[in-house]
Amino acid sequence: MIGLNNNELKMLQSLPLNIKVGKSILRIKEFTSYYGIDGVYVSFSGGKDSSVLLDIVCKFCVLYGYKKVYVAFSDTGLEFPELKQFVGNYVKYLSLKHKIDVILDKVRPNMSFKQVVSKYGYPVISKKVSRSLHDLQNPTSKNVNIRNLYLTGITSTGRECKSRKLAKKYYPLINADFRIHNRCCDKMKKEPLHKYEKDTNRKPIIGMLAEEGEERKKAYMQHGCINWKRESCNPLGFWKEQDVLQYIWENKIPVASVYGQLIIIDGKFKFTGEQRTGCIFCMYGCHLEKGEDRRFIRLSKTHPQLYNYCINGGEYDEEGKWVPSNKGLGLGHVLDQINVDYKEVK
Ligand code: SF4
Repeated sequence: MIGLNNNELKMLQSLPLNIKVGKSILRIKEFTSYYGIDGVYVSFSGGKDSSVLLDIVCKFCVLYGYKKVYVAFSDTGLEFPELKQFVGNYVKYLSLKHKIDVILDKVRPNMSFKQVVSKYGYPVISKKVSRSLHDLQNPTSKNVNIRNLYLTGITSTGRECKSRKLAKKYYPLINADFRIHNRCCDKMKKEPLHKYEKDTNRKPIIGMLAEEGEERKKAYMQHGCINWKRESCNPLGFWKEQDVLQYIWENKIPVASVYGQLIIIDGKFKFTGEQRTGCIFCMYGCHLEKGEDRRFIRLSKTHPQLYNYCINGGEYDEEGKWVPSNKGLGLGHVLDQINVDYKEVK
């Protein structure tokens, strides 16, 4: 499963669901045989993908006679409240359903989102664009070459690398009155889980789909379901979103209430509520959303208090940079500058 090409990935992605479940269980078995059941944990966000993953890992435990499994939930404070509530209930549900100990550990970041944004900057557009803008906002003698690459698409050795060139439409953000950085994911999600892994000496089983983005696809095509170098297992990597929904439908597993009901429209599974449950205040990708898909408009309707906290507030700090204030995160000011409509039409 290492070094897949596009056709091989497509072939795997087109397999029927029951075959996919079997293959995923075999990958979990391979990973767990190496590290032992005490040496692995399921990274559980409370979202639909990791809910399916956890049910499958429990099935694997039953099949191979394991009586327990460790689960880590990263409590970033950026989850929908319904999701946070769901996590504990789902773990209890699975323990009863599979008659094994599903042991839940909660990990928390050292900093709040408000502190991360104030210190490092707001996450906007995408990780890549935020990283480029951070460097361009903070010129030093050490980052001359990388800044030149972002502006020209030419490396220090003269090689053309168009994919690293920052689109001109984002140039005005270099001089924005707020900091921009891609550090948020590291601080809020990666570092707490890395600490957990170090403290417990457990390796993660994660639920990420290759179809979810170019970086994930690239990583999956390179390593397959098990990245032995990074010591992580991604057994649903070759699943499609429709497989995840079909699994929920066929196995009648509960999902967080924020998703609403699972229905079938024109032969496709769809939730009546949120389709995805990432961090509620994240601005990555929101510039691409249209109509009913716009996350902040939806938030204004479903969670008006959280919406007000997120959009309102904000103040200038002693360096003249826009940062969150006691009244709120001040995202409205940032969204205005990346031309995202967040105002609910009444
Ligand atoms: S997804 Fe967005 S809000 Fe969540 S941790 Fe990453 S950058 Fe921060």
